[in-house]
Amino acid sequence: MSRGDEHSGEKTVTARILDGRAMGAEIKAELRSEVSDYIRQQGRPPGLVIVLVGGDAASEVYSKAILRLAGEIGVSARLEQLPTRTSPDELRALLLQLNIDDSVQGILVPMPLPAHLSQKLVADTVAANKDIDGSSSESAGNLFLGLPSFLPSTAAAIMEILERTQTSLAGKRVVILGRSNVVGKPLAMMLLQKNATVTVCHSRTTNLAFFTRQADVLVAAVGRAKMVTAEIVRPGATVIDVGINALPEGGIVGDVDFASVQQVAEAITPTPGGVGPLTNILLLKQCVQAAWQQATRPVGADLSRPPIYRQV
Ligand code: NAP
Repeated sequence: MSRGDEHSGEKTVTARILDGRAMGAEIKAELRSEVSDYIRQQGRPPGLVIVLVGGDAASEVYSKAILRLAGEIGVSARLEQLPTRTSPDELRALLLQLNIDDSVQGILVPMPLPAHLSQKLVADTVAANKDIDGSSSESAGNLFLGLPSFLPSTAAAIMEILERTQTSLAGKRVVILGRSNVVGKPLAMMLLQKNATVTVCHSRTTNLAFFTRQADVLVAAVGRAKMVTAEIVRPGATVIDVGINALPEGGIVGDVDFASVQQVAEAITPTPGGVGPLTNILLLKQCVQAAWQQATRPVGADLSRPPIYRQV
């Protein structure tokens, strides 16, 4: 990873930049090669279906980005676009059919759903062995129990950054700002498995700076522009910025005040160009893993049971 501006003899040595775009390009190349091997062995590409219910604009943009990325990697992806009026029974029926369709190895249902459809319906219906965004009840349970499972892709992207940059975690103090089901909570479980000492902060945490100043690794996943400033970061920390905040004057910033924090941190992800570019790639990585796992399942195995998962 590149080191920021270094001026020997001056005090402006800045943090190492953890470049998500460069890591993303590496992983994409790895995935293309994995998919080529898969096609050679299986005679067809891994299949992904995105089930998009209703007309949420952000979900449409997200789905298109996943379809484009799948095409670049060689995964055969298609969109099942369902109208807002889709009933719970219709959605369940489609998901159950995809669960047993052996041309489909990964299923993704972008959130939010229309108000009359519950997230629980999806979490309880998508088969864990095709649940490439780690959002099913079974995946969440396995993660909690420390068993292999697919992972929510943003949390997986953060772990990928930490692993690829050989950030030491065992015995380190990691502080996560944010406790959402897609970032903070699953990430805490993954970090515990790596023997980090994990603190999760949220909107009711009092004296946030007390915790953040102790962090060897600080992860900000809140959604408040530049809330993490240099004063609340421990010198030498690794800082991972998950936040994506649109500024009224245009442009995107993270939850971390990059300009000031890069002066004290040892390593930092930029926004944009940090966690963001890796999230969708990790989703596709898990799709390719799902495909291999389903291909290597013993003949006659019970379709309702997931195979053994490989941890990201
Ligand atoms: P979320 O569901 O809204 O959760 C935000 C969390 O931040 C909540 O746990 C909330 O606490 C906590 N919080 C709010 N104000 C706080 C404060 N002042 N101090 C400490 N914690 C506070 O958001 P999310 O889906 O996890 O996303 C978080 C950010 O990451 C957003 O900017 C989102 O756009 C971004 N994101 C980026 C990616 C990516 O690919 N890079 C992916 C997903 C999300 P309570 O639980 O107490 O309300």
